[in-house]
Amino acid sequence: MPAALPVLHEQTRPAGAGPVERGLDALWPTARARLWTARYWRETLQLWRGYRLRPLDLGQLTIAIPSGQVPDCDACTELCCTGEHAVVSLRFRDLARLVDAGRSAAITHERPAPTTSPPKRTWARREADASVFGRAFPVLARDRTGTCTLLTDERTCGAFPAWPLSCARYPYALDLQRRVIFWAKGCASPVMLPAAEAPPRVRALARAVVDAYNERLRDVVLLAVARKELDDLGLLRFIDLDKLDRS
Ligand code: SF4
Ligand code: SF4
Repeated sequence: MPAALPVLHEQTRPAGAGPVERGLDALWPTARARLWTARYWRETLQLWRGYRLRPLDLGQLTIAIPSGQVPDCDACTELCCTGEHAVVSLRFRDLARLVDAGRSAAITHERPAPTTSPPKRTWARREADASVFGRAFPVLARDRTGTCTLLTDERTCGAFPAWPLSCARYPYALDLQRRVIFWAKGCASPVMLPAAEAPPRVRALARAVVDAYNERLRDVVLLAVARKELDDLGLLRFIDLDKLDRS
C-alpha cells in the first residue's frame, strides 16, 4: 500500500448540489415552520425534551487543539478510512449527496462485528451507538478488510466532494457539554502549519464540526415532522424505522 494519502482535508466543498440535496434544503424551512404549531405540538415537545434544538455557532466553541494543528494525511500510516473503529455514520445530507452522486451502494446498516470480546469501544463510540443515529441511521459500507468501499486504489476519497460530514471534520471532534472542539484520539498524524497558512484550514475543519452537529439537529427535526416528504425524496428508505420508533 502506498504510504502517502492525498490530503483529504485541503479540498473544498463543491458549489453545486444535486436534486436530492436541493430537495432536502428546500424541505428545511417547511419542517422548521412546523415546530411549535398546533398540529405538531407533541412532536415538538418530544424533541425539546431530548435535544437542545438551537443550532451551534462556531463562536460558541473553544478549539482545544494547539494552534495550527491539522492532520498530516500525506505522512499518515494509520489511515482512518479502514479499521474496526472506522465507522462512518451518515446524516440525511450525506445520504442525499451519495444518492445524487450515484453512490447509494455505499450505504448500509451492516456494522462491523467487534474483533474483541467484550468489544472495546471508546465512550464516543458507545454514545454514538446508543443515539438515534447509531440505532436507526445507516453507515458507510466496508469491504472484507474493514476498509470503506469508497476509498480508491490511490488512497483518495472516491466520494469526494460528496464525502460525509464526519469525514470532512475528522479528526476535529465536538464535546458538546464543554463546548469544546478537540482532537480525536484515532488520528495520530498531526502537523503544525505555519501561522500564515493555518487559519483557513483550521477554520474549515472547525466549521465542518459545527456543520456536522447542526445537520444532526436537522435530521431529528425532519424525522419528527417531515417523514412523508423525506419518503418522497427517497431518503426514508435508508432509515431503520423499527429501531427509530421503538426508542
Ligand atoms: S488518521 Fe488523521 S492523518 Fe491519517 S488519514 Fe485520517 S485524518 Fe488523515
Ligand atoms: S468516505 Fe472517503 S474519507 Fe470517508 S471513510 Fe470513505 S474513503 Fe475515507
